[in-house]
Amino acid sequence: VKEQGKNNYQFYTSDMNEVVSRRMNLEIGLRKGIIKNEFTVHYQPQVDILSGTVVGVEALLRWQHPQLGLISPAEFIPLAEETGLIIPIGEWVLREACRQNKEWQDANLPPMRIAVNISTRQFQQSGFVEVVSRALKDTGLEPKYLELELTESIVQNSVHAIAIMHKLKEMGLFLSIDDFGTGYSSLSYLKLFPIDSLKIDQSFTRNLMEDAKDEALVHTIINMAHNLGLKVIAEGVETGEQLQYLLQRHCNEAQGYYFSKPVPPDNISNLLGSVSA
Ligand code: C2E
Ligand code: CA
Ligand code: CA
Ligand code: CA
Repeated sequence: VKEQGKNNYQFYTSDMNEVVSRRMNLEIGLRKGIIKNEFTVHYQPQVDILSGTVVGVEALLRWQHPQLGLISPAEFIPLAEETGLIIPIGEWVLREACRQNKEWQDANLPPMRIAVNISTRQFQQSGFVEVVSRALKDTGLEPKYLELELTESIVQNSVHAIAIMHKLKEMGLFLSIDDFGTGYSSLSYLKLFPIDSLKIDQSFTRNLMEDAKDEALVHTIINMAHNLGLKVIAEGVETGEQLQYLLQRHCNEAQGYYFSKPVPPDNISNLLGSVSA
């Protein structure tokens, strides 16, 4: 028993060391990643449910680490947020997404919005509005083709957030609340924020057909959004049944593996090319 205990202890500490050293590795790597061109952006279509056309794409960051391989944003984004590196990384994604969307438009693909995830820390940096306007100006993308996906955590500093959001709206951008319903915040911000749409979190979409409570929540979010004059998009749509349900409930848009996984930019042009042909 004693020996087993000892082994367990050793196993535990070596695990801990591994976690700590991976973290340190990633943190050092993140700093170099931008300069060394290790980041890429994949894109996932957002589909208008009634017409079946692609009306937007979400930009999702990918990091190819030289030793550790492909690392999920679920792992490195929180680290980038803690270290503040999200500010240069986020600016890079924003510029890259705008550049890519302009390139698609110049190649005569049907015009669509590009949605970029914005961390609250990035949104709250001084000069964020200028970062956005510079990205648009330098790439030549019209503001109406840029959507920013914000999360409910911006509510923490809502007076500042509202002022920034108004400036972005005046510029002509499209603003949405990502992961709606998971942020533990009160709903009162919905009447204060100048937003255009809500994204229903995939945790509600996932069991839509099995769980009557998820069904009720999704239905309620759609109605509430519409009553507030907002569009609503469901993420994590994987099956035709889920899509059918969303159609019946007048959800505006859907995004998920049912249509496509996030893919490299060339695949998007093929996808849209075939839609428009
Ligand atoms: P998110 O913004 O909620 O993005 C949706 C995530 O769900 C993506 O994971 C996407 O690949 C995945 N997904 C899409 N459709 C389906 C589906 O049908 N089923 C399932 N199971 N999953 C689906 P990904 O790309 O790993 O990104 C994870 C998170 O990392 C994102 O969640 C977002 O919070 C963050 N992230 C990604 N790129 C960026 C970025 O450029 N900036 C910031 N600040 N955060 C980012
Ligand atoms: Ca998102
Ligand atoms: Ca989301
Ligand atoms: Ca999420």
